[in-house]
Amino acid sequence: MNVLVINAGSSSLKYQLFDMSTDTILAKGLCDRIGLDGFLKHTPVANGKPVFSEPIPLPTHDEAIKVVIEKLTSPDYGVIDSLSEIKAVGHRVVNGGRKLYESVLIDENVLKAVEDCVKLAPLHNPANLMGIRACQEAIPGVPQVAVFDTAFHHTIPEYAYIYPIPYKYYEQNDIRRYGYHGTSHRYVSAKAIELLGGNAEGTKIVTCHLGNGASLAAVKDGKSIDTTMGVTPLEGVPMGTRSGSVDPAIVEIISNIEGNLPINEAMNILNKKSGVLGVSGISSDFRDLEIAAGTGGGDGGPPEDAEKAHRAKLALDVYNYQVAKFVGSFIVAMGGVDAIVFTAGVGENSSNARLGICDNLKGVGVVMDVEKNKSRDYGDYMDITAEGSNVKIFVIATNEELVIARDTMEIVK
Ligand code: ADP
Repeated sequence: MNVLVINAGSSSLKYQLFDMSTDTILAKGLCDRIGLDGFLKHTPVANGKPVFSEPIPLPTHDEAIKVVIEKLTSPDYGVIDSLSEIKAVGHRVVNGGRKLYESVLIDENVLKAVEDCVKLAPLHNPANLMGIRACQEAIPGVPQVAVFDTAFHHTIPEYAYIYPIPYKYYEQNDIRRYGYHGTSHRYVSAKAIELLGGNAEGTKIVTCHLGNGASLAAVKDGKSIDTTMGVTPLEGVPMGTRSGSVDPAIVEIISNIEGNLPINEAMNILNKKSGVLGVSGISSDFRDLEIAAGTGGGDGGPPEDAEKAHRAKLALDVYNYQVAKFVGSFIVAMGGVDAIVFTAGVGENSSNARLGICDNLKGVGVVMDVEKNKSRDYGDYMDITAEGSNVKIFVIATNEELVIARDTMEIVK
């Protein structure tokens, strides 16, 4: 059975076609710059056909889905003979709100509920809806399933998801901690439990999803009991361009400094111009920062770049410190920790970030095997725990699309 997984953003749409009889990817790709000039990268994985990587007009999400289907079935780039070989479509949906907390078959009621959550995720849910509608149009009659980023965090207790602000905003306006990256936290925590012996009962794991966006989850007995992102993905640890948690009064202060800047524009500074980009003034990409700081294979550059190197190093130090501080708070939340998991772009690839974070956790008995940590040659996971460490440290490659495909298949069955 083939399942198509769609992750629609406002100007991009990622897709993967899975053969669920073998859990393998048949093809994957990215429609980029939708609504602008349009670019498609399509990779047929299952056969030796060439990669398609070219500008292509993508005025709307509807058009993008049509182009994807055309490529999946094309004689030159395709992996299936016809549309009828796609048995179901799974969609990543960012926020399911208070009502949608597990994966569901999409019908009009579900669409209405996802629409109701646009107020909570104005940057993401509208794009997810466009992806769903485009598929309904292009592949009519094929069951579609929504898998929510917020779902895994549904088990967070009330005292951890309620903000200490007037209660009416929760009661009347649904303002609470939702948390994101749930599909990833679910996948890597399940893998960690397997590595710890397979019985979820009694396990205490902190999962660190460190990508462009970043969040941590406290996973006790296999269930999320707290997470760093909040009602929006801005809260928590610093990220590529997002500030993470800061004094909320900073919004007003920045607005005043910039001459009564409207709130949405001040928020834009926290969302798009902060994080490691904001501190370093160089880049949101950890590879650039590690080179500028002299920790990523370079030597920090010539002396005139000393200030640049200092700022890059400072950004990385702020990041490592804040991530470790949140790990510490989750150790308190769970009353201990058995394993810390690193995943996503930074977590899976930056040995420096892992080292920097774990250095801050030595005081609670987290000891990393520095040599193992440097290894780049690992499959799905690696164990980088040093002998004598009280806590296991795992690097686990996340696979959100596979989780979406599996949930979709389960529901459609
Ligand atoms: P997204 O949140 O967009 O899904 P990813 O999880 O793919 O992002 O993470 C992307 C980020 O991972 C990049 O911006 C970069 O900072 C970081 N990254 C990727 N590869 C490396 C690497 N080899 N070394 C350090 N950082 C890396």
